[in-house]
Amino acid sequence: AKARGRGALCFFAEEMTLAARERLELESRLRQALLQGQLLLYYQPQVDIASGRIIGAEALLRWPDPQEGMISPARFIPVAESSGLIGPLGEWVLRTACQQGQRWHEAGLPAVTIAVNVSPRQFQLTDLVACVHSALADSGFAADCLELEITESALADRFEETLQVLLRLRDLGLHLAVDDFGTGYSSLAHLKRFPIDVLKIDQGFVRDIPHSADDMAISAAIIAMGHSMGLRVLAEGVETPAQLAFLRERGCDSYQGYLRSRPLPAADFAALLGAQSTG
Ligand code: C2E
Ligand code: CA
Ligand code: CA
Ligand code: CA
Repeated sequence: AKARGRGALCFFAEEMTLAARERLELESRLRQALLQGQLLLYYQPQVDIASGRIIGAEALLRWPDPQEGMISPARFIPVAESSGLIGPLGEWVLRTACQQGQRWHEAGLPAVTIAVNVSPRQFQLTDLVACVHSALADSGFAADCLELEITESALADRFEETLQVLLRLRDLGLHLAVDDFGTGYSSLAHLKRFPIDVLKIDQGFVRDIPHSADDMAISAAIIAMGHSMGLRVLAEGVETPAQLAFLRERGCDSYQGYLRSRPLPAADFAALLGAQSTG
């Protein structure tokens, strides 16, 4: 039993080393990709449910890799977060999204909100307010067209510090959205003290509409609660007409999802927006 125990331990240690090595390698490749300008932002339309019009876009990171195709942000964001690379990476995302938004504005496209994901780690690693301020100032992008998405779990810890940062961000004139709402543990008492504009219903609650009575009840409750707090509510991951019909009936304001469009390269999103303004 003892020998087997040692064998298992050795095996375990080797696995750890392998995982750690892979992580380090991914991190250094990500750092290179950022430095060499290989990362991209895709844009997923956000649609007003009542009018069917595109009113915004969420900027989503894409990492094209010659060997692997696209590397998913779900894989590399955690690596960036644990290595601290999320600081410069997050700054690049903010600057790129603001520059892109300003270029669309200058090209005469209809004004839309651009939503940018902010990792909880960016609160700790960088002066987020200074970073956002300079991204806006350097690009000339209008602050009220920028929305920052903060996950519900990021709101749960360091309440007072987070609150102060959010208040200062709001003073810049931008909007704040709570991402993945319903998956964290933020209390309503806390939530109502944050200067929030939008709740994003997590796609996990949308996926099984209209088959899951629980998820329908939760989504409806989030919509009603958001509205009673004066917030707009956006549903994520809408893939079917039945999901959209349910959300419309419950008064949900807007949605994102494959039903309307996958995240698109910047030029494709601009084309979609341009087509909407003429027709
Ligand atoms: P998220 O912020 O919750 O983004 C929504 C994810 O759902 C995106 O995955 C999007 O492509 C996907 N999605 C959109 N519509 C549908 C749909 O109808 N069905 C399904 N099944 N999925 C849909 P993506 O682009 O792979 O991004 C994954 C996560 O990576 C994001 O989740 C976000 O947490 C993170 N992420 C992406 N870009 C950034 C970034 O610039 N900064 C930070 N900090 N995180 C990012
Ligand atoms: Ca998001
Ligand atoms: Ca989300
Ligand atoms: Ca998510």
